[in-house]
Amino acid sequence: MPLERTNLLGMDREAMQRYFVSLGAREFHARQFLQWVYQRGITEFAQMTNLSKALRARLLSEATLEMPRVASEQLSSDGTRKWLLQLADGNHIETVFIPEDDRGTLCVSSQVGCALNCSFCATARQGYSRNLEASEIISQVWLAQYLLHDSGYTERAITNIVLMGMGEPLLNYEAVVPVINLMLDDLSYGLSRRRITLSTAGVVPAIDRLAKECPISLAVSLHAARDALRDQLVPLNRKYPIKQLLSACRRYAVKDSRRQVTFEYVMLAGVNDSIAEAKELGQLLSGLPAKVNLIPFNPVPGIGYRSSSTEVIDRFRDQLLTQGLMTITRRTRGGDIAAACGQLAGVVKQRRRHKTQLAVNA
Ligand code: SAH
Repeated sequence: MPLERTNLLGMDREAMQRYFVSLGAREFHARQFLQWVYQRGITEFAQMTNLSKALRARLLSEATLEMPRVASEQLSSDGTRKWLLQLADGNHIETVFIPEDDRGTLCVSSQVGCALNCSFCATARQGYSRNLEASEIISQVWLAQYLLHDSGYTERAITNIVLMGMGEPLLNYEAVVPVINLMLDDLSYGLSRRRITLSTAGVVPAIDRLAKECPISLAVSLHAARDALRDQLVPLNRKYPIKQLLSACRRYAVKDSRRQVTFEYVMLAGVNDSIAEAKELGQLLSGLPAKVNLIPFNPVPGIGYRSSSTEVIDRFRDQLLTQGLMTITRRTRGGDIAAACGQLAGVVKQRRRHKTQLAVNA
């Protein structure tokens, strides 16, 4: 039996250098290798002509760059694209590209399904299977770049990356950090910290870790200004209530005076969209370097909520603006192909209960 080959996708610069040194090669070979894969999109070892023949042969026998299979691509009338990717174990995840005039945002998934069970989210309804591996997360970027190029986009189509797809990225911390390192690395995608955003439902200890180890833009799915309501909408709140969450956000922001935390707030008709609630939210966030993204609720089959009307959303926004909070309403993109916020579902095999879910629901 041949040894199992090492998948080199998802290894950041340090890990890649260690790996190449373990093969008897030099650190700079690892750096050349990263450029081949992520900058030039080459995954055939044979084509990496500045690596010696012997090294290429060694890689061929011991390593792979194995990616998920693209099961389907859907194109929205607004230009948004959604890919369904099949993983080696048969699970499926989704990745979305959202083109705008001045940027192109890729929304990547971090888990197969999600264990957090937010009451309004399609991913929650799929249940939870497992964390994605670093290779499966970075593959979403590699494949999107490749496929966008194929559809006529330039090499630089992806200017921003948001970890806002399926799953809770801070419950997959160990895989997410090397992936962020690769997104930042000049030998790879070379994006700035401000162009990479991680969205979390509020895993407090991991927010503190991220602040220390890998600070990037942070978005927090708040959705309610009171614990009683947030407990229902985002059950993780029972473990990390609003006060603790906001303290972590404050600690995150103070490390860097330019850093702001984005608070996401899904607008659910008759649930969290009154003017009184806008006032409460404004008070809660006052003094924090915060901005608010209001997200019209995107319909999910089997979920009974409705989105607040445009008028209600505008009034809510105006109230927050009056209180001095920078607030925008996120435009819904890709709704016709179920690619909008909270609509990603994929196909989750082997559902299982997750420690966090047990802890949260206990
Ligand atoms: N687990 C992370 C990453 C998911 S990001 C998090 O909770 O932040 C996806 C964003 O879309 C989150 O803010 C989520 O709360 C929001 N969302 C989920 N379902 C939605 C829906 N049906 N309509 C609009 N937004 C939704």
